[in-house]
Amino acid sequence: MSRKKYMLGNWKMNHGLEEIDNFLSDLDSPSSFNCFWGIAPQAIHILRMIKAKKRSPNLKVGSQNCSENDFGAFTGELAVQTLVEAGVDFTLAGHSERRSLYSESDELINAKVIKAQSENLLPVFCLGETLEERDSGKMENVLEGQLLSGLKNVDSKNIVIAYEPVWAIGTGKTATPEQADEAHAFIRKVITEKLDWDANKISILYGGSVKPANVVELLGKENIDGALVGGASLTGASFSALCKAASN
Ligand code: PEP
Repeated sequence: MSRKKYMLGNWKMNHGLEEIDNFLSDLDSPSSFNCFWGIAPQAIHILRMIKAKKRSPNLKVGSQNCSENDFGAFTGELAVQTLVEAGVDFTLAGHSERRSLYSESDELINAKVIKAQSENLLPVFCLGETLEERDSGKMENVLEGQLLSGLKNVDSKNIVIAYEPVWAIGTGKTATPEQADEAHAFIRKVITEKLDWDANKISILYGGSVKPANVVELLGKENIDGALVGGASLTGASFSALCKAASN
């Protein structure tokens, strides 16, 4: 079964205007990328990246976060309706930094995913275990719990899943392609058996220290449909290499 390939960059709280300009001018032949490729910049730079679609029409722009609420008194939040109106294509939901640093619960993440879907904004639902959970044999329980709570009442038609083991994010430690593939296969099993989704149609991305040197091997695995990338998405040259790998 061939699923669409994805290469998404999460810039987190990095890059000012000058670095963004450099990134865009260093992209190497973006018109040749034939995967779903995009960047989630800091919120204030979303419009700057949308402007870049004039030169790179296939560029997708993402938000790193969104509110589960409609418009109202929610200081500091980002309404899904506003993101869509601005031209945003996808939003992350449940990134491990939001879960751990901002105490986002599975229930809150679930509400964000549902809100995004209600406005046709593609949610990229992130999940993953910590090293302690993996080492103590709890990985499957943790992933299953995150899937069942985070994807409750979610429509399987407009969603991407990103498996990001917490111990591999920003640490330089990548899961081996076998470890990642095994976790992805487990995710497919849970969404098939417990959510009754057609798992063959769901794209599952891997995230955790992906870089040009390891991306080909990771993407060569049957269950890995792309990557969500932090550090290696920050320069145009490195991100272009990743997009090209996802285009083969
Ligand atoms: C991420 O933040 O989603 C991520 C995977 O970061 P890095 O690629 O830097 O590990």
